[in-house]
Amino acid sequence: MNIFVVNCGSSSIKYQLFDMADESVRAKGVVERIGEAGAEAQLTHTVGEQKHKRTIAAKNHTEGLTYILGVLVDPAIGVLGSTKEIDAVGHRVVHGGEKMSRTCRIDPSVIDVIHENAVLGPLHNPPNLMGIEAAMTVMPGVPHVAVFDTAFLSTLPPKAYRYAVPAEWYTKHRVRRYGFHGTSHRYVSLQTAKLLGKPLERLNVITAHLGNGCSMTAIANGQAVDHTMGMTPLEGLIMGTRSGDIDPAIVSYMVTNAGLSAQAVDKALNKSSGLLGLSEFSNDMRDLLEAVDAGNEKAKLAVECFVYRIVKYIGAYYAILPSVDAVVLTGGIGENSVPARSMIVDGLSRLGARLDDQRNHATLRGACGPITTPDSVLPVWVVPTNEELMIARDTKAVISQ
Ligand code: ADP
Repeated sequence: MNIFVVNCGSSSIKYQLFDMADESVRAKGVVERIGEAGAEAQLTHTVGEQKHKRTIAAKNHTEGLTYILGVLVDPAIGVLGSTKEIDAVGHRVVHGGEKMSRTCRIDPSVIDVIHENAVLGPLHNPPNLMGIEAAMTVMPGVPHVAVFDTAFLSTLPPKAYRYAVPAEWYTKHRVRRYGFHGTSHRYVSLQTAKLLGKPLERLNVITAHLGNGCSMTAIANGQAVDHTMGMTPLEGLIMGTRSGDIDPAIVSYMVTNAGLSAQAVDKALNKSSGLLGLSEFSNDMRDLLEAVDAGNEKAKLAVECFVYRIVKYIGAYYAILPSVDAVVLTGGIGENSVPARSMIVDGLSRLGARLDDQRNHATLRGACGPITTPDSVLPVWVVPTNEELMIARDTKAVISQ
């Protein structure tokens, strides 16, 4: 069974084609700069170790997807004899709101709900919909399935998802915590259950997805019970360019006292805050750690704030969970950054975490395993995420029902 996974942004289409017989990736790639004024779209298509780059004509997502399908059957760089060999398409959809608590086959009612949630996910749902509509146009004969980023977090209890604001904000305007990165947290929790040899229903873990976007989930008996991101992905941990938690009064303060519009404040909190805002030069952990080594004080502060917020949330989640089998780190920083991981584990010493330096240095490039000592009271694991594979597995499960 071939499952085609599609993840559309406003000017990009990321794709992976899975052979579900062995869950291998037959081809993957990305088209970027779709519809950008004065720029041509760029395709990067990868088969095994072979990377092919092309400038292509794609003014919109339909043209981009048509081109990708052409590449998949191209005799020179393709991997399929015909696009009819694609059995289903799995779409990443960011905001499912309250109605979408699980993966589902896309029909007009699902499209309506994704539209309805565009007000909650204005940056993501409209491009996700463009991708769905384009893919349904160019692949009309196959089932299309939506996998929602918010779905795994739909088990949060009201005490975790309600904000203490006028109740009408929730009942009338749907203001509540939804959470994001759910597909990643779910994949990582399933992997961790396997690695620890525990049934998922008995797994108690804290999963931290630390990439450009960062979020953390408290998981009790296999179900998400709290999460750091909120109504939007802005809340919680410090991220590459997002502030994470701030006093909400700062927004009106900056509007009133700095002459910024509400939109300008929102943009600053999303695009020029976080590691970038604090360091004033980069949102990338690698750059920051290099600068710390060279004695850059702003980079040092940025990394300290980043680690401090993570440790603080782990402490909070430790308090609310029935027990903690492990803290699990994933995402670009969690999977690769030896220094950031070591600072996080050191910060958890009060909870009984003890770093194993050798394990920390050895667990890289897609490897998984503990980075704490065998006698560490609180084990910290690295488990690489794979959101695309989770989407492919979900899609297969839905179309096999
Ligand atoms: P995204 O959230 O955009 O998918 P990633 O999960 O790829 O991002 O994470 C990006 C972050 O991971 C960046 O801060 C980057 O510096 C960090 N990162 C990636 N590789 C390494 C590495 N080898 N060492 C340290 N940090 C890394």
